[in-house]
Amino acid sequence: MVDVTPHQFPGVYTINDKDRTSLGTESLAPGVSVYGEKMVIHDNKEYRIWSARRSKLSAAIRNGLSEMPIQPGSKILYLGAASGTTVSHCSDIVGAKGMVYAVEFAERTARELIHLAASRSNIVPIVEDARHPTRYTSLVAGPIEVVYQDVAQPNQATILHENIKTFCSFGAWGMLAIKARSIDSASDLDEIYTKEIATLDNLGLQIVDNIDLSPLEKDHRFIVCRVTEELA
Ligand code: SAM
Repeated sequence: MVDVTPHQFPGVYTINDKDRTSLGTESLAPGVSVYGEKMVIHDNKEYRIWSARRSKLSAAIRNGLSEMPIQPGSKILYLGAASGTTVSHCSDIVGAKGMVYAVEFAERTARELIHLAASRSNIVPIVEDARHPTRYTSLVAGPIEVVYQDVAQPNQATILHENIKTFCSFGAWGMLAIKARSIDSASDLDEIYTKEIATLDNLGLQIVDNIDLSPLEKDHRFIVCRVTEELA
């Protein structure tokens, strides 16, 4: 017997299936499994199990995220989309009235993202480098309410800031999965996180949440920040 209840975050569900509790989203494209995830039917609606081992956003919610800016109707810019695992759940959450602009620079990976977008009209795949937001301004119909970033790059905070500055206005949100070992392969983890968070702060982004993703993701922190003053 499957039991589905709305999570505290709109568009997210808690799914109990055979004594196992998972997060899930209501599928915008019923019948299609994106990355092999299990799908369950409840009250004639199809829900996709949202793996906390495959998606850092799911892991962040599992580990106690306090703010979830991605909501039904949101317009989001997603940097580091890969083949679309987390993008697909964001697409379910924002629904038909929202939009996910999904940026991925690896062409082979982006092919799968483009395939995903064919069955979901609220995903716009953008094959570009997130370090150069001016290259894709013409493809994004702003304003963007949330910039979500999960790229393995050394300067993660500045990439987020550049994109927020290009596409967002006052009150917008940033969500950043900091991958410590892409920034520095040897230094103490806390030092790396402190430095990256200080960079966000110095650039004018207010830190709202800071979640350790272990044990679901090793050496990662998940940051939620907000534009509450003029950006540097
Ligand atoms: N966010 C994905 C998910 O949860 O489904 C996983 C993302 S994976 C950890 C990081 C992705 O970022 C890779 O696909 C990589 O090609 C992409 N990436 C790294 N640097 C990038 C850049 N500068 N611009 C665009 N994509 C980038």
